[in-house]
Amino acid sequence: MLESKIPSGPIEQKWEKSRFEMKLVNPANRRKHSVIIVGSGLAGAAAAASLGQQGYPVDCFCFQDSPRRAHSIAAQGGINAAKNYRNDGDSIFRLFYDTVKGGDFRAREANVYRLAQISVNIIDQCVAQGVPFAREYGGLLDTRSFGGVQVSRTFYARGQTGQQLLLGAYQALEEQAAAGTVKMHTRSEMLDLVLVNGKARGIITRNLVTGAIESHAADVVVLATGGYGNVFYLSTNAKGSNTTAIWRAHRRGALFGNPCFTQIHPTCIPVSSEHQSKLTLMSESLRNDGRVWVPRKNGDDRAPGAIPEDERDYYLERRYPSFGNLVPRDVASRAAKEVCDEGRGVGPGGQGVYLDFADAIRRLGESQVREKYGNLFDMYEEITGENAYKVPMRIFPAVHYTMGGLWVDYHLMSTIPGLFVAGEANFSDHGANRLGASALMQGLADGYFILPYTLPNYIASSAVEKIDTSHPAFAAAKDEVMKRVTTMVNIRGKRTVDSIHKELGRMMWENCGMTRSEAGLKSNLARIPQLQEEFWKNVNIIGTGEELNQSLEKAGRVADFLELGELMCIDALQRAESCGGHFRVESQTPEGEALRDDEHFSYVSAWEWKGGGGHWGFHKEPLAFEHVHLAQRSYK
Ligand SMILES: Cc1cc2nc3c(=O)[nH]c(=O)nc-3n(C[C@H](O)[C@H](O)[C@H](O)COP(=O)(O)OP(=O)(O)OC[C@H]3O[C@@H](n4cnc5c(N)ncnc54)[C@H](O)[C@@H]3O)c2cc1C
Repeated sequence: MLESKIPSGPIEQKWEKSRFEMKLVNPANRRKHSVIIVGSGLAGAAAAASLGQQGYPVDCFCFQDSPRRAHSIAAQGGINAAKNYRNDGDSIFRLFYDTVKGGDFRAREANVYRLAQISVNIIDQCVAQGVPFAREYGGLLDTRSFGGVQVSRTFYARGQTGQQLLLGAYQALEEQAAAGTVKMHTRSEMLDLVLVNGKARGIITRNLVTGAIESHAADVVVLATGGYGNVFYLSTNAKGSNTTAIWRAHRRGALFGNPCFTQIHPTCIPVSSEHQSKLTLMSESLRNDGRVWVPRKNGDDRAPGAIPEDERDYYLERRYPSFGNLVPRDVASRAAKEVCDEGRGVGPGGQGVYLDFADAIRRLGESQVREKYGNLFDMYEEITGENAYKVPMRIFPAVHYTMGGLWVDYHLMSTIPGLFVAGEANFSDHGANRLGASALMQGLADGYFILPYTLPNYIASSAVEKIDTSHPAFAAAKDEVMKRVTTMVNIRGKRTVDSIHKELGRMMWENCGMTRSEAGLKSNLARIPQLQEEFWKNVNIIGTGEELNQSLEKAGRVADFLELGELMCIDALQRAESCGGHFRVESQTPEGEALRDDEHFSYVSAWEWKGGGGHWGFHKEPLAFEHVHLAQRSYK
């Protein structure tokens, strides 16, 4: 069932060879083949602009009022590329190696190698678009380091890299909109996927302003709908980020890959209140210059400035001398949790550690630190009221990214023919832990450089019959969507959507978050079905389906999170090893590090929808490591 379609031949030549072997569509024929792209973040906008430029008619959808508001705009720290401008030992192979190792050997080697190869083109593409990457005094592009690596390969635009990259992709998208190849459908939420003869042929959307349920047909559908970290309720993701598009496709037959692989980011502003609905990231780039520490003594509540140097524990530098503060995110997050569990955490509730810039300010001067990270310091001050130039930041891990997503083959096609998945929405490339600054790289690689080959190859090599929305499959799917909306609105129960979402989020964080145990996962699996039932009996959605209704929008997304949460726990339970961000307490080294079990778990898990109620089909894609040898990850 799982055909990964990895090309044969040496790893360095696989992509080149398969690009040559892929079929092309004659320019005059391209306008006869329509494409739907759901999502206009970095992955979706890049794909829509590139395919539009090739001459395909593209319908692109997003739920925001403008593509510029996609969650990608929030990305702060940077984008990786193996340019080796610093001459510090970087190479395509090293980026490939770091990514496979960083992902704790749970990613497909061939995909990761291609990503490293393409990384160098992405920077050229973005520079040509006018993306204002930071430059050194001499005019060359500047770079900095991110976690899990010992070279400086992260290109950045202050702390606003995502925003600048998205503006580049957006202007390319708008160019195609003006040329008439791309039609943008904003404020439209995909609520179902339509299959005809087993192939993806369209989507059903709800117009978020009028409530109208609409059908759209095409030859190919691409989902670039981002990650599902909001299953945890509190995360650094935009509030609107959700799983609905990929979950609906999953229910229609697309397998879900590694659903439990979640990234917890070590440097976020700690939770400060029960009523909080959002967490804020402090970019990993800050760990280039900030030093992480806690007091040596338990319960030491002196102000940070009053704690002398020899009474501080710079625990990352102590435990991981080679990588220090720049260990990968999963390692840094767990270490922060450990010191807080020991009673050495700082700030309200002891759920925080210091990220201290005093040394960097002494070494570089405040103005240079401001130059590099000014907007992050401002954001921190806006939220906490503290000036991080004077007192250390307080940080704590938070849910940030989901490595899991719809399973895709080397061509980024899901198990449904004609359904492609790009960006954070697919499971590919990052294994069990994504390295910092690699999500933007992957989203843009998928959109600018991979789909423009693999999608035409699919069109050219499959018989795509001509259909439109009058096909009965559209009426049937539309009917199902309308019934679901009406059922939800008519429940008129007593619990708010948010209260159910919060309860789900809390149990996901406690039992399927930074650490996972068999007992905790089983308790979630007992409680989640009850919460699903509670939702369908007792949720209260105000207003109707025929109008702008944010309560209804949230409810639809939470209903899907409730099913996804269950699958995440099932996946985490079957993977009785620790790897990357998936830390099973039963599987750790004597030093408390993640202990993989390669003999039994060197595979991608891929789940098939079998009607819910705890039933899923389980498939495995075995992983082979021929170029990066399986080893216990060490950052010491
Ligand atoms: C605070 C923060 C900082 C980050 N910083 C970095 C960084 O410095 N470097 C890095 O590499 N990564 C970073 N990341 C990760 C990175 O930003 C994301 O992984 C990436 O931007 C995702 O891009 P995407 O195109 O896949 O999805 P998104 O940008 O999330 O876009 C999703 C799109 O899909 C649309 N959509 C979703 N569902 C539907 C639906 N049902 N119907 C219609 N449309 C839908 C949305 O409207 C949107 O247009 C950061 C993440 C966060 C949270």
